[in-house]
Amino acid sequence: MSNLEVYQFNCRSDNFGVLVHDPEIGVTASIDAPNADAINQALAEKGWTLSHILLTHHHFDHVEGNEALKQKWGAIIVGNEADAKRLPGIDLTVKCGSSFQFGMHEVKFIDTPGHTIGHVALYFAEQNLLFTGDTLFALGCGRLFEGSAEQMWQSLTALAALPDETVVYCGHEYTKANAAFALSVDPDNVQLQDRAKEIDELRAKNLPTLPTSIGAEKAINPFLRAGESGIRAALNMAGASDVAVFTEIRRLKDNF
Ligand SMILES: [Zn+2]
Repeated sequence: MSNLEVYQFNCRSDNFGVLVHDPEIGVTASIDAPNADAINQALAEKGWTLSHILLTHHHFDHVEGNEALKQKWGAIIVGNEADAKRLPGIDLTVKCGSSFQFGMHEVKFIDTPGHTIGHVALYFAEQNLLFTGDTLFALGCGRLFEGSAEQMWQSLTALAALPDETVVYCGHEYTKANAAFALSVDPDNVQLQDRAKEIDELRAKNLPTLPTSIGAEKAINPFLRAGESGIRAALNMAGASDVAVFTEIRRLKDNF
């Protein structure tokens, strides 16, 4: 199985654009379409031709480039069947839990409601690659615009169950602000303290803090750690359910 090449770049104010390229077949997918100009520039830098747009969710800053890119490249727009009505220019729908064939590679659509009801994560199992959109961020998770805290907790739990070595790309560069919050609820986590220093150094040089990995996030992302005793003690919620602890962490972050 050939490898995929992933190219991440800045888009809009704090979105990431990501291209996934299969050098053997010559296909290239944009993960979401935050901005057509930025994606066209990235394609030109790499010398790649856009064949697909794989969507995580319907928010404007993830689909704005759909129509322009489709017009320019004839790219096929692929998204969650259950949310097809809200995905501009959609050509091909995929059911959550099933897979889409990108060149020689399978992309599994994982149902991740919470940020929006129709949000999906895109998982290339053979390459250990995961695109989480606005569900899981480095040290954070998406705001609950449509789904419940319970749905988001289940979505995050499903992503946390993937192998630790899974490489994770997210929709936004929010990591520095997320780190400040994470330290407020998990202050004694040494691995988190080290990562926060690294994040400060990267952002001081305007470098991205992504990708991350499932293993790293399980160790330091408070939104995946509602079951951990240190966080429960800090929140005075030792006997509460995981969902209740997660809900409180999300509420605190909304007001941080
Ligand atoms: Zn969003």
